[in-house]
Amino acid sequence: MQYLPNIIFALALAFGLGFFVMNIRKLIRNINLGKDVNRKDKKPERLKNMIKIALGQSKMVKRPLSGFLHIIVYVGFIIINIEVLEIIIDGLFGSHRIFQEVLGDGFYAFLIGFFEILAALVFVAVVIFWLRRNVSNIKRFLSKEMKGWPKKDGNNILYFEMVLMTLFLVMNATDVHFQQAGIGNPISQFITPLFDGFSAEGLHTIERTCWWIHILGILVFLNYLYYSKHLHILLAFPNTYFANLNAKGQFTNLDSVTTEVKLMMDPDADPYAAPPEGEEEAIPEKFGASDVADLSWVQLMNAYTCTECGRCTSVCPANLTGKELSPRKIMMDTRDRLEEVGRNIDANKGVFVDDGKQLLNDYISPEELWACTSCNACVEECPVNIDPLSIIMDMRRYLVMEESAAPQELNMMMTNIENNGAPWQYNQQDRLNWANEE
Ligand code: SF4
Ligand code: SF4
Repeated sequence: MQYLPNIIFALALAFGLGFFVMNIRKLIRNINLGKDVNRKDKKPERLKNMIKIALGQSKMVKRPLSGFLHIIVYVGFIIINIEVLEIIIDGLFGSHRIFQEVLGDGFYAFLIGFFEILAALVFVAVVIFWLRRNVSNIKRFLSKEMKGWPKKDGNNILYFEMVLMTLFLVMNATDVHFQQAGIGNPISQFITPLFDGFSAEGLHTIERTCWWIHILGILVFLNYLYYSKHLHILLAFPNTYFANLNAKGQFTNLDSVTTEVKLMMDPDADPYAAPPEGEEEAIPEKFGASDVADLSWVQLMNAYTCTECGRCTSVCPANLTGKELSPRKIMMDTRDRLEEVGRNIDANKGVFVDDGKQLLNDYISPEELWACTSCNACVEECPVNIDPLSIIMDMRRYLVMEESAAPQELNMMMTNIENNGAPWQYNQQDRLNWANEE
């Protein structure tokens, strides 16, 4: 019976980590449903991007208040987790504050004191975040795609953080030996008086309860990530590493179309010639994207990485002028459809069974797609290098090349280019007539 708590702890840890690994495998499987795209080049540049943007949070601070608060929460999240390591060792081996023994009083006091200050700062930052989301009228948190689960999810994480930080501080405040030693308790010493009058046994019970809820809460948080926009905590790193490094606005030409155009321009080419041997497969079975499996794995990873911050939508000229388009919604829809496809595969023993739905029309309308000015502002603004424009372009490509479903104005322009070599309705010979007009 003496080892019962250790056994329960080991089981909870194994269950929590096992479930987490299962969800991560599902995540990787879903991302791999995307088409291959080569992002193995320019490794030093990719690494630099990841260190600067994901680790250094360089794009977050473009908006100083939210950027600064986010850095506090981010640093707190990473550093306070060192303390979780101590909890795990204590839980498995039945020790108490094992790092104090190993590191010595001085360094341990510095470490825990630092954690306490961070925990208090994280708590304050999280409260400000909550007020910004729920009380202030910040437009990007009020858009229609932020109703329902996205709003709840954003708040849930904030509540999680508040509770975890409080538990950590109360746990320290009710640890009689820790408080008596008077080291590493710059914040918890002010909470201790709240428990004046409690017996030593009562304090011990509160301390143990906080300890257990704290670690179980962390395991629940870990598993909640998969169902939340907070997956960016993990995915921001690969997402910034594998981001597109080409100049913004560079179009991804299809090899098969380039070959076709070259053939058209070559007067000696035989238009009926079969493609050279081995190049038959270069002709894609489908042009553009109408569903998630037509997108690349990087675009699908983008969708899972989206933090739903809405910075992209807040600078989107189409959205600002009242059009249907919101680049954040493009990413959320892509993720939701991908999740739906993943659940379909799970329910059908690893095979996707056509559900009569697709990303186009069932999630994203042509109206949204054609509202985009392709200005790249969303890509520039995204704090984790997500590229909503690339998805819009691939879906437009499908509409034009597979469905001939471009808006009337575009169809006219394309016909003019085909007939007149220019977007206007004039014959090439008449182009300079304006110079002779009175
Ligand atoms: S590229 Fe399109 S979606 Fe992105 S900001 Fe510009 S108009 Fe909006
Ligand atoms: S795409 Fe980027 S900027 Fe837009 S909501 Fe997602 S994380 Fe924020």
